[in-house]
Amino acid sequence: MKATRFHRHGGPEVLQYEEVPDPEPSSDEALVRVKACALNHLDIWARNGLPRVAIPLPHISGSDISGIVEWVPPEEQMFRKGDEVVVNPGFGCGRCDRCLSGRDNQCRDYRIIGYGVDGGYAELVKVRRTHLIRRPEGMGWVEAASFPLVFETAYHMLVTKARAGPGDTVLVLAASSGVGSAAVQMAKVLGARVIATAGDPEKMEKAARLGADFTIDHYKQDVIAEVKKLTEDRGADVVVEHVGKATWDVSLKALAKGGRIVTCGATTGSDAATDLRYVFSRELTVYGSYMAGMGELLEVVELFRQGRLKTVVDSEYPLQEASEAQKRMESSAHFGKIVLKV
Ligand SMILES: [Zn+2]
Repeated sequence: MKATRFHRHGGPEVLQYEEVPDPEPSSDEALVRVKACALNHLDIWARNGLPRVAIPLPHISGSDISGIVEWVPPEEQMFRKGDEVVVNPGFGCGRCDRCLSGRDNQCRDYRIIGYGVDGGYAELVKVRRTHLIRRPEGMGWVEAASFPLVFETAYHMLVTKARAGPGDTVLVLAASSGVGSAAVQMAKVLGARVIATAGDPEKMEKAARLGADFTIDHYKQDVIAEVKKLTEDRGADVVVEHVGKATWDVSLKALAKGGRIVTCGATTGSDAATDLRYVFSRELTVYGSYMAGMGELLEVVELFRQGRLKTVVDSEYPLQEASEAQKRMESSAHFGKIVLKV
C-alpha cells in the first residue's frame, strides 16, 4: 500500500509518501481501507519527537479515520467487508478495572492509533475490531474523519469532567482549533452561555456562527477584563484550556470563584506557572482531560445523528501532501479540522 510516514524526527520535510507493506491484522483486528484521515496536534508532536516518548520508526501518523471495512475475521458478528465506518482512536487493554468501568482512557496500556501505533496516513490501517463505529448516515468521508478525537475530547472535558450546564458561562480558548470549535458546540448543546476567544475578526465570526454568544480577540483585547465585563465581574464558571503556557495564567484568572478549569493540551508549552493563591482562595478546581472512553464517543455519534453537532472542516489535502497539511496546522491559519483524503 501507499502511506505517508517518517523515518526520523524533524520538520514537515521528514514526511515521505512511499510504498510500505500492508498491515497484517490479527483475529482481534479489522483492516480498514482509509477514505479520509484528519490531522491532530498529536501528529506534529510525534513527528517532532518528544522526550520520554519512544515512537517506533518508521511511523505512520493519523488518529481520526473514516473508511471501508476491507477485512474482518470470520468470528466478527457486527461488521462485514464493505461496511462504512469511523474508528475510535483510543484503546485500552479491555480487561482492567478502568477499561471495564468505561474509563479506558485511564488504562495503563491506553494507546492512540497513529501515536506509537501506525495510523491513517495510509491506504490501509489495522484497528481493533471492537473500535469500529458505523459512519453516521449522510456524513461524508472527510466530515466523518474530522470529528472523533476532538469531539470526544470536548465531551469528556465539558460533560464528564467540568459537568457544564445551563447557568454556566463557559470560556473556550482558541475556538478556531479542532478542540475549540468542538467545545463551543458542546457547551451550547449543554445549555451553557459561551464566550470564545479567537485570533482575528474572521475567526471570531466563525466562532459566533458555531454558537458562541460572545467572542474576544485574544491578541487585541484583554481576555480577563472582557470576561469580567460579560459576567457582571464574576468570571467564567468553566474554562476550556488547551493552549498551555501562553494562556494558562489568564485562564485561571478569568475564572469565577468556585470555577472549574479543564485542560487537555499545551500547544504553546507545558511549563506554565500557576499562582496558587488563586486556586485556594477562590476555590478553583483543575481537571486534566485525556481523550475519552468509547462510550463517550458513542454519545457524540448520537449527537451528530440528532443533528445537534456539526463537523468543522478547514481544508482537504491529498495523502501525498501531508507535509503541506501539517504546515498549515503549524501556521495556525486554519479554523477547524485539516483532513487528508486517501
Ligand atoms: Zn485496561
